[in-house]
Amino acid sequence: MANSTEPQAERGHRTIHAGGRWLAASSGATRDILDPADALPFAVVAEGDEKDTDLAVAAARTAFDDGPWPHTPVAERAALLRRVADLLVRDRERLGLLESRDAGKTVEEGRVDIDCVADAFRYFADLVAGEAPGRVVDAGSPEIHSVVVHEPVGVCAMITPWNYPLLQASWKIAPALAAGNTFVIKPSEITPLTTVALIDLLVEAGLPTGVAGIVTGPGHTVGARLAEHPDVDLVSFTGGLVSGTKVAQAAAVTVKKVALELGGKNPNVVFADACETDEGFDTAVDQALNAAFIHSGQVCSAGGRLIVEESVRERFVAELARRARKIRLGRGTEDGVECGPLVSEQQRAKTEDFVASALAEGAVLRCGGKRPEPSPERPEGGYFYEPTVLDQCHREMRVVREEVFGPVLTVETFRTEDEAVALANDTEYGLAGAVWTADAGRARRVAGRLRHGTVWINDFHPYLPQAEWGGFGKSGVGRELGPAGLAEYRESKHVYQNLAPKPVRWFTG
Ligand code: NAD
Repeated sequence: MANSTEPQAERGHRTIHAGGRWLAASSGATRDILDPADALPFAVVAEGDEKDTDLAVAAARTAFDDGPWPHTPVAERAALLRRVADLLVRDRERLGLLESRDAGKTVEEGRVDIDCVADAFRYFADLVAGEAPGRVVDAGSPEIHSVVVHEPVGVCAMITPWNYPLLQASWKIAPALAAGNTFVIKPSEITPLTTVALIDLLVEAGLPTGVAGIVTGPGHTVGARLAEHPDVDLVSFTGGLVSGTKVAQAAAVTVKKVALELGGKNPNVVFADACETDEGFDTAVDQALNAAFIHSGQVCSAGGRLIVEESVRERFVAELARRARKIRLGRGTEDGVECGPLVSEQQRAKTEDFVASALAEGAVLRCGGKRPEPSPERPEGGYFYEPTVLDQCHREMRVVREEVFGPVLTVETFRTEDEAVALANDTEYGLAGAVWTADAGRARRVAGRLRHGTVWINDFHPYLPQAEWGGFGKSGVGRELGPAGLAEYRESKHVYQNLAPKPVRWFTG
């Protein structure tokens, strides 16, 4: 059995955690984890399957049904979550670097991710610690005591994507633990390393045996088994629309609770009045770059659709393209690199396919649209792709309708406020969107009309752990973060106590 502080390199491929033990896959299968900057393997993990999943679920079931965690006082649960946050801060450099190598992001982005993970643990600790234990309901009689209490859902399955591996995991694990659940998580098969490392920290913080489980392995085996498993009470999924739909279908058979955080096609609406001053113009362009290209656009809330007022389009797009060309692409661990590679060859090929189809449909390439030349900071095997701006796009194009999940920005234009709103809402998704304007009234009007789960006014990308995150339409079901993000992991129970019971005489016999 692995020691809780054993580093990844010594653990080898024992990356399945069930009932307090670190295990190899029962089949013995392993998977190499590749560094997206050079496509070379740098770690090896267990390639779990349905059998390993059943083992982990059984351990989580036993820990829930017979273990102490669901009944541990809230103050103790909160204290444990705070200890986890402290351990994350202690290990920030190690974990930030691991996230950078695994997902291809810059080390600084990796560090920020770890800070945000710690914030999530602290937020949910404070939320449960500060809560009333239940809600007393006025039943209309002094002889009735009626109270609604919250209880954990049970065994929670969690399935997470590769773009923000540990952050997405923490938005599930922190509230699930705060509420008293046990869990089994399946991280993305291509970026599992920091989630494995987090399980170590949970154990080190004192989480009882069996509460935390992890199975590394593919979606079609491990993920699918978790979604259908009869002993799982809830499945929380973050990922793409296609896999999310399969999870929802599988979960329906056993009527599990389901939470889905899916993709987005997020509009960034820029009114001309936001660009009237030099400072306003510079800010709007800078943030449009950040919206579209941070983490090479592999962000569910990426502002990949620029919807700009016609009168400022040429000036705005020219400056955007000029600055996009200057983004320094390279291995995320190199000094001065601003943007890493895509996560896989598959993701790059998908991006190339979107750009080719857009150009065939009449889009105009303003920058990018190709792989960069290799350089000392950009090894030849890495999955790099240049930040790409496609002008003169329209809503019928596939690149405007579907999520690219790569560094591609499309440009559409509008003339009136109504037209801007109609374009921004013309998507089957509804995760996030932004409006840039110097007119406060217009800002509030447009924000009120956007059908998206998060709306930014004169900003892009920030989120708060205390504010709900999630989508309208096909962007998902349910919410993460905020009080609703905790409520996902709870059942409400109404306890009605009659202090003076007497017969009701409904039946007279
Ligand atoms: P994906 O759907 O390919 O995979 C997500 C996870 O689901 C992985 O762990 C995968 O192994 C698993 N999976 C795949 N098929 C499955 C199946 N049949 N049953 C069960 N599990 C299965 O997504 P991805 O490519 O890893 O991530 C990118 C997607 O995630 C994008 O669409 C992005 O928008 C979305 N995302 C959404 C949010 C959000 O908060 N809404 C956050 C991050 C990412």
